[in-house]
Amino acid sequence: MRFVTASLGGERFIGMMDEGVKKVYNLSLAASEMKIGYPESLLEGIERGEDFLHATNVLLEKLRSGDPHRFTYDISHPDLCLLAPIPSPRKNILCVGKNYKDHAIEMGSIDDIPKHIMMFTKAPTTVIGHQERILAHSDVTSELDYEGELAVVIGKRGIGIPAEEAYDYVFGYTIINDVTARDLQARHKQFFLGKSLDSSCPMGPYLVHRSAIQNPESLAIETKVNGEIRQRANTKDFIFSIPEIISTISKGMTLEPGDIIATGTPAGVGKGFNPPKFLKTGDLIEITVEGIGTLRNEVY
Ligand code: MG
Repeated sequence: MRFVTASLGGERFIGMMDEGVKKVYNLSLAASEMKIGYPESLLEGIERGEDFLHATNVLLEKLRSGDPHRFTYDISHPDLCLLAPIPSPRKNILCVGKNYKDHAIEMGSIDDIPKHIMMFTKAPTTVIGHQERILAHSDVTSELDYEGELAVVIGKRGIGIPAEEAYDYVFGYTIINDVTARDLQARHKQFFLGKSLDSSCPMGPYLVHRSAIQNPESLAIETKVNGEIRQRANTKDFIFSIPEIISTISKGMTLEPGDIIATGTPAGVGKGFNPPKFLKTGDLIEITVEGIGTLRNEVY
């Protein structure tokens, strides 16, 4: 199941992407016409848990057996807009820093490989969708950088989650670009300001349910800037695994449905080059994670 939050003519809806035929089903509209109880937003759906998945399956079955055309849009429909799957998260996005050895080294030295999970957050106001523009913020930064990452979306409330049960708490996976103002990140000591400029968290285009991803720790991840490959890695190279991350964060802090955890970026960020390759207006960043999709955003 590849969920989307989308809009058509300003009307926001929960949708399902059919990758095979490149079409999006408007599940919200179908549910309303078929008088099936359905949440207002994907976030609310994640909170409803199994009931939401069941309602979605019922809808998809009805659509497939009936006439789905009224509820189906071609992905190239000019008025169709894919928003971030969770456009307004309730909390900051939780981010793991330096979770790939080669990236830790490019940001400093071999001594920068963390022994404990490194965490920071991004403000909810950073989130934008697929194809939305990343603001250059040239009045506050001259070192805007990209970070392609796999993100985990929590599906179930929990505290003290044991690593061996961690995947039971996952709803699914998406892609984020952890856009960073390197100068602000360095100047203000804590990462928060350099990580929280408006539009610095492109997310999406899909939220893929965990049942569709066999092993999230064996996915190719690639970032291109203007077609040039900058990052190419595999999530099997994580220093800290997804279960370790979930169990560490939740030791004394409750994780809730809809919480988003970015798992860290591989080597190849702009700052890692000599001279650095920071982002500029007009740059197109494309992040692809195997089995999830491609997140595309231009700097404006
Ligand atoms: Mg990052």
